[in-house]
Order: sequence, then C-alpha cells, then structure tokens
Amino acid sequence: MKAVEKLIYFDYNSTTPVDPEVLKMMTPLLRNVFGNPSSNTHKYGDEARMAVEKARIQIGRLINADTKNIILTSSATESINLALKGTFEASKYNKDHIITAQTEHNAVLDTCSYLESKGARITYLPVNERGLIDLNSLKDAITKKTLLVAIMYANNETGVIQPINEITQITNERNVLFMTDATQAVGKIPVDVETKNIDYLTFSAHKLYGIKGAGALYVRNLNKQKITPQNHGGGHENGMRSGTANVPSIAAFGKACEICIKRLESDMLYVSKLRDELESKCLSIGNSFVNGDMSQRLPNTTNICFNEIDADELILKIKNKIAVSTGSACTSATFEPSHVLTAMGLTQNQAYSSIRFSLGRFTNKKEIKQAFSILDESIHMLREIHDFKQYK
Ligand SMILES: *Cc1c(COP(=O)(O)O)cnc(C)c1O
Repeated sequence: MKAVEKLIYFDYNSTTPVDPEVLKMMTPLLRNVFGNPSSNTHKYGDEARMAVEKARIQIGRLINADTKNIILTSSATESINLALKGTFEASKYNKDHIITAQTEHNAVLDTCSYLESKGARITYLPVNERGLIDLNSLKDAITKKTLLVAIMYANNETGVIQPINEITQITNERNVLFMTDATQAVGKIPVDVETKNIDYLTFSAHKLYGIKGAGALYVRNLNKQKITPQNHGGGHENGMRSGTANVPSIAAFGKACEICIKRLESDMLYVSKLRDELESKCLSIGNSFVNGDMSQRLPNTTNICFNEIDADELILKIKNKIAVSTGSACTSATFEPSHVLTAMGLTQNQAYSSIRFSLGRFTNKKEIKQAFSILDESIHMLREIHDFKQYK
C-alpha cells in the first residue's frame, strides 16, 4: 500500500494544532483537576482554582499585563463582544460614537452593527492599498461623542500590522478608549499592553497552540473601567463574566502562552524564513502579487493574488494535499469576495483570485518545497483551462 502523504497545513491563522507540551500537561489535568474553581470548601476546588490562577499569570505575562486586569472568556469573539457592548452600555449613551476599520474581523464588525441597531454611531475607517488605516482620517473622525476606537493589531487575512503606537498616541491625547483585537498578533509578535498604552486587548487560545474554548480580555485598570457584564449569574471573573471557568482550556491557554514567551524570537525567525521562501516561489510562477504591506506584517502570513485563477477552484484542486483558505473561516461559507481585500482596492476578480497561506511552528522546509511544486503545477493547469475558455 502506498504511504498516505501528510496533508500540508497552511491555515494556522484559522486555528493552530495543539503544542505537544500542552497536550502532555492536559492528560493528567483532565483526570485529576476536575473540581469547580469556585468551590472553596475542599481541595478539589482549590486545585482547580490554582490551575486557573496559574494560567492567568502566564496569560498576562505574554502581553505584559497585570494578572488582575485579565478577564477569562470562551473565545476572542466573546472578549470582543464584552468589551464593545459592555463599554457602550456602561457609557449610558453619553458617548455614542465608535470608530473602527473596514478590514476588521467579523467579530468586531458584526458587534458594531448590532450596536448601531442600539443607537450607536459607527465610523468604518477605510484603508490604503497596503491595508493600513490613515492616521489623519482617524484624528478627523474623533469627536466629543467618541467613546472608543477599535482597530485590530494584525489582520487575519493579510497579516498586516496597524501602527498601534501612533494610534494610541492619538487616542490618549484625545481621551478616547482604545481597543485592539490582537487575536492574530499575540504569540506571533511581541505585544506589550503597558508600553503601548492599550485600554482593551482581546486574544484567543486556539490561535496560539492552546485548545479551543478559552479567550482573554485585558482591561487597563479593570476596577476603574466601566463595563457592563454580558453574562449574569454567579459573579465569576469579578462579576464581569459569570459561568464556571473552562478549567482545562484555560490551563492549556496558560501553558501555551508560557511556551510562546520562550519561543517567540526563534519562532518568528524560523517561520518568516519559510514564509518568505514560499512567497518568493509563488511569485516566481508569474502574474501574481502579494496583498498588503510587506514590511508591516506578521512573520507567518502571506496573501497572494494569482491573476486568472479562481481561488476556490485552486483550493478544491489541491484539497487533498494542502489545507489553505481564502481568508476568514467565518466568511468562507459565503460567496462574497473578501471585505478585507476589496477595502484595499482589489477588484472583485483579484479578490476571488487571492489565497492566504498562514504557516506556523510545525511547518518545515520540505513542506514548502512540496507545496510549491503542487501549486506551480495546479496554477499552470488552471491558467491553461482559463486561456482555453477565453478563446472558445
Ligand atoms: C480568529 C479570530 C477571531 C475570533 O477568535 P475566536 O477565539 O475564534 O472567537 C477574532 N479576530 C481575529 C483577528 C481572528 O483571527
């Protein structure tokens, strides 16, 4: 029997495999630490609580945050919902204006459009052809009624990193809150909430080699900041998020963060070399270009437009060899072109011809080579069919 070739995984931005070190700690934890962390009458509860609090320290450390300012949630999506809805509600409509960008993840965009239905006014800032917001447009958009600016740290489809320093300088000067969806940045590049003056930051375990079901919301001065909880009940997480903590996922999240701290520099160097190699090989196929700013970018991501290729067709063709996607997993069920790429000025055709490659810790050189030869062959074949159809 022919050995089954391993399906190459280039979709780390949608989720990551679990790190083996995380797995190793999970088995005994699942068996032994089953207590309810809120039970304070016995050791089972104590141990679960200790596991959660240990994780909270590890999670905070990765973003240089004080442990007491971390709210544990189920996902980045939940963290984003809590930050945006909770802050808007708590402002009691004194300030009703939120500024965000057109290229945000749907977790932010959909929450903003929900708030619009509750009376909020939302400004969706455009981006330039490199995917970056314009700082002067941000300055101009801020008014006395502006409550919060929500701009993502790094984009999930293109990897483009927004100028966070410059943005927080503006939000601090104008005394508006700054929230950033850092789900793609944390664990991939250094993120420091203290030096960057960030008010709210959200991220998720399953994007940094943890397991699904755990997320975090960092809030500067949690005890002073006004946020209305969105989950009511037993008053967990300082009343900010009721519901028994997902102890296994949270413990794994902590361990995954600890590993990220240790590996950050070497992972960045390692993965950027592989990404650059894949990218230059793909560009050598010809009639293709990279979407987004190539220097202000995550080290693991490249989003490439292959002209005269239908990306969905290509993905289907290589489905058994390479796992990739066109971008956000949350929107790939719909047939709309990527809102991120069209906001950057791509035509519909160019957006439909674009593929995101996101690599990670477990990608190796051999996979890059294999992937390239598969892509090269498939793209040539699809272009021939395309040309043939044109002349018919
Ligand atoms: C994955 C992702 C989210 C959603 O995270 P979940 O933990 O899956 O809810 C939000 N924003 C960005 C930029 C993402 O990449």
